[in-house]
Amino acid sequence: MALEFHSTEPFSGVSRQEWLDSSWQMRNSFERLTDFEKVFELTDGERRAFETATQLFRIRVTPYYASLADRTNPDDPIRRILMPHSSETLGHEYTLPDPLGENQHRPVKRLVHRYPDRVLFLVTDFCNVYCRYCLRKHFTGQDQAFPAVGEYEAALLYIRSNPAIREVILSGGDPLTLSDQRLQQVLQDLRAIDHVEIIRVGSRIPVVNPMRITTELAQILRRAAPVFFMAHFNHPRELTAEAAQALTTLVDHGIPVMNQMVLLNGVNNHPAIVQALSRRLLYLRVKPYYMFQCDPSDGTRHLQTSVEESLEIQRELWGRLSGLAMPNLSLDIPGGGGKVGLVPDFEMGRRDGHRQYRGWDGYEGEYISPDFSQKLTPEDVDRYIAEWNLIRNSPYGSAATRRERDDSQPPDQRDQRQSPLER
Ligand code: SF4
Repeated sequence: MALEFHSTEPFSGVSRQEWLDSSWQMRNSFERLTDFEKVFELTDGERRAFETATQLFRIRVTPYYASLADRTNPDDPIRRILMPHSSETLGHEYTLPDPLGENQHRPVKRLVHRYPDRVLFLVTDFCNVYCRYCLRKHFTGQDQAFPAVGEYEAALLYIRSNPAIREVILSGGDPLTLSDQRLQQVLQDLRAIDHVEIIRVGSRIPVVNPMRITTELAQILRRAAPVFFMAHFNHPRELTAEAAQALTTLVDHGIPVMNQMVLLNGVNNHPAIVQALSRRLLYLRVKPYYMFQCDPSDGTRHLQTSVEESLEIQRELWGRLSGLAMPNLSLDIPGGGGKVGLVPDFEMGRRDGHRQYRGWDGYEGEYISPDFSQKLTPEDVDRYIAEWNLIRNSPYGSAATRRERDDSQPPDQRDQRQSPLER
């Protein structure tokens, strides 16, 4: 069966030229109840959510992305991503305003430094669509846009002063909501720092406003190579002809594109959906990279899957889906503990160096580990030890340093979470 990608249809009264203009999409985004009413048959719960959910998180969606959702069915997967839900403001003891504890790891206002060799640069808080499951509601959609001159310089100075930082991830908000000129300036400023090897751009623009990915934009990214592009498709229906074109433009310009999806209840929590998305992405030369457990951000309880369910989806896909198409299931430890990989348990037992496994299709076998006395240290390791120690000995990622930094924060910015055992 050939994989097909269908074009979207402009809403009545909108010309195709307007529809395919990314600025038109931004200018005509839906933000108010009255905008949504023109397209969707809203339930009473959805109407109520417009009154309350804005207190927690902004509402915004491009007409293009709204056209992917079902107009009458409130349970439609795309609609669950974009439409505020009445349970968002109910509150829950296991959800957090800042689930990744990013505010504890901000050495300057616009940087998050959690891992030794990379930083997250929050270049804008603006997005074309405010996804209801967003993990960064503590920052996103708060009218902070591009950093003020002082904040921007402070971020560059920090990166410049820390030679262990090898990678800068442009995030936000959505960095591709910046103008070409601004984006180009940021990339040039980062490229002027010798030790920055990799730049990553994390963006949902190919999903929600793919017309923004122009040849000019791809050339700007290409000139700053190596730039890795992290797309964020969650459902195969998001892969329209327009989205496929955007991804092709990036890949044809030599920009490696990977995808990070989030497992969401009622959206994509079934192996059939994940495989459909992954195979289509791979066909478009996009590597399915991560499949994240939904972070327990405030207002997302109705969108989260259980860890058991996520592992079961991963187990179903294992072996049946090409390794190239297989995303890594992973979760972030709430509060800022970093990522952990979740892998189905295939081990049946172990004794001495003997390990018994049952594979994806039920075949059982034994792997016998070599004797430890056979271990050899690579003879040329000294060549690489200095660069490794720079990363290894960096304080970032150490729990003790985090605690020290937390103590130096004003009380309202400290980590207020209690351990579950203290509750
Ligand atoms: S595009 Fe990203 S940052 Fe913006 S709302 Fe969606 S998930 Fe959050």
